[in-house]
Amino acid sequence: MDRMGFPSFAVERPLLDNIRTRVEDVYRLCGPVVGEDGLCRLNDLDSAWPEQARLGVLPVKKFLFPPRETLWTYRSASYQPPESPPATAVVGLSLCELQSVWYLDQLFAEDQLYGARRQRLLLIGLPCSPGPHCRCRCELMPVAGDLFLTKERVWSLSPRGAELMEHAGVTLASATSSPLPWPEQSLQQTFTPLSESQFQGSRSHQVWGEEAERCLSCGACSAVCPTCYCYDLLDVAGLNGQVKRLRTWDNCFFAEHGQVAGGHDFRPDRVSRLQFRFEHKRYSFGALRGQDSCVGCGRCLAACPVGIDLEQIASRLGEALP
Ligand code: SF4
Ligand code: SF4
Repeated sequence: MDRMGFPSFAVERPLLDNIRTRVEDVYRLCGPVVGEDGLCRLNDLDSAWPEQARLGVLPVKKFLFPPRETLWTYRSASYQPPESPPATAVVGLSLCELQSVWYLDQLFAEDQLYGARRQRLLLIGLPCSPGPHCRCRCELMPVAGDLFLTKERVWSLSPRGAELMEHAGVTLASATSSPLPWPEQSLQQTFTPLSESQFQGSRSHQVWGEEAERCLSCGACSAVCPTCYCYDLLDVAGLNGQVKRLRTWDNCFFAEHGQVAGGHDFRPDRVSRLQFRFEHKRYSFGALRGQDSCVGCGRCLAACPVGIDLEQIASRLGEALP
């Protein structure tokens, strides 16, 4: 386990070596890599693939929805689309991370740029050993991805994964006839169910004020969350007449997140911002309303400098229910 308490992965070397030889001619190969600062990131894999990998600080969403990307460039009286994203294979994803991709797939279903990146991204999962903050739940939502590997079995999660393994001569296990190997320890972690009406009725509970008071509005929790997707649009004009429209990650804990033209602020205080984040994680918005989007990876708790824990908030709200 790394110093932030993230899960670790046992690397299935023979299979990975097999995969590597099959995909590296076509794909840029990425996976969890520990940097000199001791933190793990999803980065280019070189030959020094470690025996133990760890959950990346920034989730796989950075390949699909990068922190900063160009949507279009205007020059010489025409709009230019961004360059085609590189074909990338990411190895070493946990099951909760693959759930988060399923969630983003629903959310960005009509986003062309996301679709282009997703189409060129091969996702390979490995079993993990849960960290102390893990609360993943297999029943939460389906998993996305292409392959899931253990020492004994291979699960094909997509036609692309099946094709890859058939070419490699590996016998496939059906994900429907054989359940994916969810980590048992994590499944035993507590989870407090809270209906949406119970949440709406709890808005004046003291836990909101107590926790919001401690929040530093640093935004770390949203940055590391695999299912946070708030973004801002920014037009940048150059002296040469070129204009770029950028999409950059935004954060619901930032003071200006709820500000709109005319000066109105939908969430002017930290309590309303904390409740907004809780509502988003537990009940989603828009077409996904009702879907709990917290995959229980524990990154937000590991990254939060003051230890704010959405599950602990839910638990205190649950205790106060009649
Ligand atoms: S809210 Fe926290 S535990 Fe849930 S998915 Fe986001 S980072 Fe992971
Ligand atoms: S990481 Fe913690 S302190 Fe920072 S914005 Fe999130 S809840 Fe607040």
